[in-house]
Amino acid sequence: MRKDVRILLVGEPNVGKTSLIMTLVSEEFPAVVPYRAEEITIPADVTPERVPTHIVDYSEAEQTDEQLYQEISKANVICIVYSVNNKKSIEKVTSHWIPLINERTDKDSRVPLILVGNKSDLVEHSSMETVLPIMNKYTEIETCVECSAKNLKNISELFYYAQKAVLHPTGPLYCPEKKEMRSACVRALARIFKVSDLDNDGILNDHELTFFQRTCFNTPLAPQALEDVKNVVRKNLTDGVRDNGLTLKGFLFLHTLFIQRGRHETTWAVLRRFGYDDDLELHQDYLFPLLKIPPDCTTELNHNAYLFLQSVFDKHDKDRDYALSPEELMDLFDVFPYVPWGLDVNSTVCTNDQGWITYQGYLSQWTLTTYLDVQRCLEYLGYLGYSIIAEQESQASAIAVTRDKKHDLQKKQTQRNVFRCHVFGITGSGKTGFLQGFLGRNLVRQRAIKEEHKSYYAISTAHVYGQEKYLLLHEIFPDFDFLSETELSCDIVCLIYDVSNPCSFEYCAQIFKQYFMDSKTPCMLIAAKSDLPETKQQYCMTPLEFCRKHKMPPPQSYTCNTAVAPSKDIFIKLTTMAVYPHARLRCMCTCNRCTFCLCQNFLNSELVQTVRTKLYTVIFSRHITHADLKSSTFWLRASVGATVCAMLGFAMYRALLRPR
Ligand code: GDP
Ligand code: MG
Repeated sequence: MRKDVRILLVGEPNVGKTSLIMTLVSEEFPAVVPYRAEEITIPADVTPERVPTHIVDYSEAEQTDEQLYQEISKANVICIVYSVNNKKSIEKVTSHWIPLINERTDKDSRVPLILVGNKSDLVEHSSMETVLPIMNKYTEIETCVECSAKNLKNISELFYYAQKAVLHPTGPLYCPEKKEMRSACVRALARIFKVSDLDNDGILNDHELTFFQRTCFNTPLAPQALEDVKNVVRKNLTDGVRDNGLTLKGFLFLHTLFIQRGRHETTWAVLRRFGYDDDLELHQDYLFPLLKIPPDCTTELNHNAYLFLQSVFDKHDKDRDYALSPEELMDLFDVFPYVPWGLDVNSTVCTNDQGWITYQGYLSQWTLTTYLDVQRCLEYLGYLGYSIIAEQESQASAIAVTRDKKHDLQKKQTQRNVFRCHVFGITGSGKTGFLQGFLGRNLVRQRAIKEEHKSYYAISTAHVYGQEKYLLLHEIFPDFDFLSETELSCDIVCLIYDVSNPCSFEYCAQIFKQYFMDSKTPCMLIAAKSDLPETKQQYCMTPLEFCRKHKMPPPQSYTCNTAVAPSKDIFIKLTTMAVYPHARLRCMCTCNRCTFCLCQNFLNSELVQTVRTKLYTVIFSRHITHADLKSSTFWLRASVGATVCAMLGFAMYRALLRPR
């Protein structure tokens, strides 16, 4: 909203400019007036639109032309005053005043004009007939009003119209020559319609209209008023109302009607509520609300935001196949000024067999944007009308800023849901295969990805002890000398080597020694392409020896050359390590000394194995006889077996979580 409004009164001498101003202020007609009234400022709280308003007089006798021009350029709206009983003063409006003003203002940003016919107390007839052709000729004339300073008629109205002409200008909304709404206004209203059409059926039903009314005007719409509105549209348009709801055509028609009847503040109220500024662009304050992110904190979407995004997905997944076809996606982006997602998104998140982004993939992509570029996320949520539909103050309330990672490490727990894993390895070591494998794509499906659609990111979910977490994999371009701070800061590091390439491990070892040996970030070595025959790595130690020496988990074999979707196990391990960086995950060690290894060895021992197989055969064998089930020895054996399993399970759990 504007800070203030400056109204200038011009016109021939003696038409009553000074009298009008003084009457407004004192609420009585002054017998004697000076040539020129002092500039007055009406405080915000006494004006109808709650904006401070300056009223400026002009007097030919007291001011030079230069001073007049200066005032014209400073004014937000100009009232050209004539006297209804003085023909010459009307003629001068077109012959002198309008050209003089227009010469001094840009064609595109013309200052709105108001024609004021004063001294209406002196005549019987109205001057409107003479003035209407002038109004039609000059589109910058916002309105005209007849008044009388002497009778105090239409005085406050005059200043209200002037204020309104500035605060709710017709210019950006309506083209008086064509008698229709301007295209930018139609575009904005169409977006507003789409956002408000919660079920995306192209109709605003009663529920949606009521919601719309409440958000824009803070007052509910009475059922009768709702019917009246629809009836007006029905009477004037054939397809303005369908299935008892308002179509886009009907919605636009209503707004054209508001504007044509001088009620454009209604349309402006709607536009402003949905974030538009005076140029009908989405306001920067609306798109980018203030959000403070301290260092070492990350940004995630909160529960409310996910619910909102889910509703947006549901609204556009018309065939209910839990994936967005290219058409459905384009429909979703219809409320954006540009298509926000490139084709690389399809290789960053999960897609279905047709290559369409699934529900899971859609949420992952939003999570990724929020994590990597929260400003962009705010902007996108703004286009979707988050604050309006979710009834929040701004998009900023969709964001959860996590606490400092150092704090998490200290407290040994985290509330974060998104974890970042950086993937290192030489060219061709299988990094991309690893990323794509996370998205469930085997080598055959990966080969179908075009070069220009490739992505250095992959994001999806993994369950850690029953909780869903996002793992964000980021492939780092191999380089020793230039690894930036951002390339090094992550929750877990993956060092990938190719088991069939003898020169691939050395890079991992060097990266580890140079950057991660002394850092707190957990590291994992991945032996990629494990379906190929393994060759000896050219390095002073084997990868396993290297891991032991540096207290890392042993190398994890991985292949995406599978018939079905590659296994997700490794990604669950990685996420677990990222969530619990302080816990030493002995499940992956082979030290033969820790509790876990001892348990593991015990479990694998021949004695336990035979007991277990026997137990299984007894329980699951089809030949369980009735007598068997009844016999107490059977139940004794079964319960002992169950207790052993439970105890082992508990020991294992404790060993897994044992802190360093
Ligand atoms: P300005 O030169 O345009 O500022 O005009 P003034 O305000 O000085 O008014 C000129 C004369 O018109 C004064 O004698 C006023 O009393 C008179 N006047 C102003 N407004 C009205 C009005 O509404 N009705 C009548 N009858 N006289 C008016
Ligand atoms: Mg005067």
